[in-house]
Amino acid sequence: MSGLSYWERTYGDHFFDILIVGAGIVGLNAALSCRERYPEARIGVLDKGMLSVGASTKNAGFACFGSPSELLDDLKNHTEAEVTALIAKRYQGIQALRAKLRDEQIDFQLNGSYEVFQSNQKSEFKAYASQLDYLNRLLYSVFEQDVFELKPLHFGMQSVLGEGIFHRLEGQLNPVKMMLGLKQLAQAQKIEIVSNYEVQAFELQGEQVEVKGPKMLNCSQLLIATNGFSSSLLAERSVDILPARAQVLVTKPIKGLSLKGTFHLDKGYYYFRNIDNRILLGGGRNCDFEAETTDRLELNSKIQNRLDELLTELFGLSEEDVEYRWAGIMGTGRQKTPIVASLNKNIHYGIRLGGMGVALGTELGVDLAQCVNL
Ligand SMILES: Cc1cc2nc3c(=O)[nH]c(=O)nc-3n(C[C@H](O)[C@H](O)[C@H](O)COP(=O)(O)OP(=O)(O)OC[C@H]3O[C@@H](n4cnc5c(N)ncnc54)[C@H](O)[C@@H]3O)c2cc1C
Repeated sequence: MSGLSYWERTYGDHFFDILIVGAGIVGLNAALSCRERYPEARIGVLDKGMLSVGASTKNAGFACFGSPSELLDDLKNHTEAEVTALIAKRYQGIQALRAKLRDEQIDFQLNGSYEVFQSNQKSEFKAYASQLDYLNRLLYSVFEQDVFELKPLHFGMQSVLGEGIFHRLEGQLNPVKMMLGLKQLAQAQKIEIVSNYEVQAFELQGEQVEVKGPKMLNCSQLLIATNGFSSSLLAERSVDILPARAQVLVTKPIKGLSLKGTFHLDKGYYYFRNIDNRILLGGGRNCDFEAETTDRLELNSKIQNRLDELLTELFGLSEEDVEYRWAGIMGTGRQKTPIVASLNKNIHYGIRLGGMGVALGTELGVDLAQCVNL
């Protein structure tokens, strides 16, 4: 028992109609969607960090839907219908995000993307290139045009094949500007964002959910949007979710940088792009899967060293040219599809966005809000 009176529980300032745990792209979109459905409800978003300590502000800002090698890999474990549905969700998600926030506000640029292959990957390149007609046909219902084509690479890269696989509809954005934009929208909609509130546990008590953290809160409906940090909160519920840490570096400014767009390498395990006049390079989880199955925000020296090597192989740059390094936490599982589900009629969760949550997050937030029943 909380010791609170009926009045306190029902009308006190610790009572919310809807509480959302996690102020990432999913949590804030869920909050905005709840506001549309329930204009008068008291809605709060709790986060253990300041804006988001999650992946939403630490990602690479690719507005991407899946490179050919990733898609063909996915088709080994998922049906064509599942893969097409997931790509459609990613594509619609980016359109929904751009409808919510202006392109200039989030630095959205439709520069296209390339899947690139290193000089020793000629046979892989040929194999994937021969499947482009098939992929274009498979995804025509999503994009309403052929999106993949072979294109020469002109970006001063070393040790890569001269041609890559271009995706004309992939873009790039600034994730922090995206999150600040969503936060502003939420605040304008009288959604209360509570920072530095780490939820320790929650429990259904009659018709309300008791949320345990720095101070006790109650709500009618609880939405959990903690993605890669969900294992402990949902530990006893046997949900298929695991943390997946990812490592990134950003170089110092590079004079005359010609790199423009987003680039995928090695089935999406590595990725790079231009940010201002710098290069962002990330990935390498496949070098140390076990150590990276964690939600501890720490650098992994083995992977950072591999990123340094790749920076040298691709651009002739060295460790001294790197100015920033960080890690972020994604949520993965046996399946690549995200999960929206309910524990009971008061508690719901929307998690497991994998490596393309910028694309999936907006729609997943909307789907999560649909679970609410006030
Ligand atoms: C390095 C990196 C690069 C990536 N690059 C891309 C990319 O280029 N394109 C792309 O589409 N996707 C990318 N992703 C994936 C994408 O960023 C995520 O899928 C997406 O941001 C997940 O959003 P979310 O809202 O579900 O979770 P998050 O953004 O992780 O938000 C979850 C929030 O929950 C909070 N939280 C957790 N536990 C608690 C608790 N107990 N109490 C209170 N608050 C809690 C956390 O503080 C966090 O703010 C990348 C991810 C990483 C890590």
